[in-house]
Amino acid sequence: MGLKSYWKKRDFEKTPEPSGKKPVRRRVKKLRDCIQKHAATRLHYDFRLELDGVLLSWAVPKGPSLDPADRRLAVHVEDHPIAYGSFEGSIPKGQYGGGTVLLWDRGTWEPVLDAHAGLRKGHWLLIKDDDQEAKRGKQAAITELRPESVSTGRSLEDIARRGRKTWQSNRGKAA
Ligand code: MN
Repeated sequence: MGLKSYWKKRDFEKTPEPSGKKPVRRRVKKLRDCIQKHAATRLHYDFRLELDGVLLSWAVPKGPSLDPADRRLAVHVEDHPIAYGSFEGSIPKGQYGGGTVLLWDRGTWEPVLDAHAGLRKGHWLLIKDDDQEAKRGKQAAITELRPESVSTGRSLEDIARRGRKTWQSNRGKAA
């Protein structure tokens, strides 16, 4: 898809979101992923996977679960710039996606099979692999157990109060 659709939807004079026009410097060549909690008109989670120089993006209304039996709908949305992967802040009301964005999780990923072929097929369900991190019952409700920002430890309310400031750090969340 590329970033045309991303640029078209946003006015960078008004939103603190990254335009993605500056290249991102990086030491590690691994593909990145992140999940952002987004209190827009409706609260949802944005799941993003780096591929071909952009972040492929899906809106996941219910957010991730650690229970492999849970199948979470993921709606494919426009590609986002790589710089979006560290964005946290408040998008002003009236702008596209107006509301607060919290960086809920981040890491790196490796495609199990061919990522491009997988994309063309398009099965958009977010399902936890049944591995040693899998949980059942209340322990699976990771969005409730760990609602805070992975980079700053802040809540949505904290971020909303701080307005336009964005943050970066290197702390990871073991989810
Ligand atoms: Mn969103």
